[in-house]
Amino acid sequence: MKILCVLYDDPINGMPKNYPLGDLPKIDKYPDGMTLPSPNGRDFKPGELLGCVSGELGLRKFLESNGHQLVVTSDKDGDDCTADKELVDADVVISQPFFPYYLTRKKMESAPNLKMAITAGIGSDHVDLQAAMDHKIDVVEVTYCNSRSVAEHIVMMIVSMVRDYHSQYAIVNNGGWNIADAVQRSYDVEGMHIGTVAAGRIGLDALRKMKPFDVHLHYFDRHRLPEKVEKELNLTFHDSVESMVKVCDVVTINCPLHPETEHLFDETMINKMKKGAYIVNTARGKICDKDAIAAALKSGQLSGYAGDVWFPQPAPNDHPWRSMPHHGMTPHTSGTSLSAQTRYADGVREILECFFEKKEIRNQYLIVKDGELAGMGAHSYSKGTATDGSEEAAKYQKK
Ligand code: NDP
Repeated sequence: MKILCVLYDDPINGMPKNYPLGDLPKIDKYPDGMTLPSPNGRDFKPGELLGCVSGELGLRKFLESNGHQLVVTSDKDGDDCTADKELVDADVVISQPFFPYYLTRKKMESAPNLKMAITAGIGSDHVDLQAAMDHKIDVVEVTYCNSRSVAEHIVMMIVSMVRDYHSQYAIVNNGGWNIADAVQRSYDVEGMHIGTVAAGRIGLDALRKMKPFDVHLHYFDRHRLPEKVEKELNLTFHDSVESMVKVCDVVTINCPLHPETEHLFDETMINKMKKGAYIVNTARGKICDKDAIAAALKSGQLSGYAGDVWFPQPAPNDHPWRSMPHHGMTPHTSGTSLSAQTRYADGVREILECFFEKKEIRNQYLIVKDGELAGMGAHSYSKGTATDGSEEAAKYQKK
């Protein structure tokens, strides 16, 4: 079979010769008891860079020794890109949310052999899920592999934005020492009201991780958490996003992107927020209206916006979030730490092993199966597509 793997570019100066840490901490289980990915083999050293082109998700030896063909590329956008050319006779396509190969209906229709789209990570909104259902292309992702990595990033972003770390760091790098400049937007997080839109794996973990800061915790979700968890974290449940955002100093967004959540944070929603609140969005860029966010930062309706997710990706060089005031943006990195890469590479291999041996893929990994939303997909997504506009990614010019 032919496996097409679309991964992000190698480091500008080439693959690392060594890494800061010699090994990774050992983790056997996720907090709910789910086991980590468990492939039959592994052809890489945990902690290596696997998510870029030369890393190849550690798959080449495994695939080629089993008679399969592996094609890896980062050339994924614009007419005549390598990925589109290779897709036409591919059986499986692997892509990542960090550098998504937007699998639109048109692309699927160019690939009659395509049977499965694997997301090396979590979040399969870069695939037109409706078209995948219509064409019976299964969609799977490595559920939980980087949820806790993202929750760590959220804590980092909440604390660094509220305390205004970025300005203080810039002052030091510029040789300065003006304390008044450094603190004129700096607050303590303690005592603040922090709320999450969605309390799934990431949202709940972010709440748990924020609890020791002595804050008031809120959440909105379509399903309510068990009473035991609400009590343990002293959570306030809201039955609408509007009810939550009007009382929160910090709102973190942790739902998947699907037609129901696209542009949820538009001008109307932002104007319902407490004045001067902060948003941390590590879920998907398109859940927020990009121009409304930039305008709210300029007007002071928002005090800060941070996250690692954009639309499209890579973000065009003139994307307003690159230059808006009081932002704490990173490229899409929260779920692709070296620690997370080992887990998603293992997960992709586990999925491929099951696929080749015609064994069942874990139900938790399924988004679309046999033409229907299935597994996690049936629980968390709605029908339709959120890939419209993704062709704008071709505008990005490498720096
Ligand atoms: P989970 O499936 O565990 O959680 C998703 C939660 O979103 C569920 O609780 C679900 O609710 C809730 N949800 C779905 N639709 C809505 C809605 N319309 N309104 C409110 N809540 C909703 O996934 P994770 O927590 O692991 O990941 C969440 C998302 O984060 C991913 O889909 C992905 O987009 C993003 N992500 C980002 C990463 C990054 O690197 N930045 C890495 C990993 C994920 P319910 O189940 O109650 O229906």
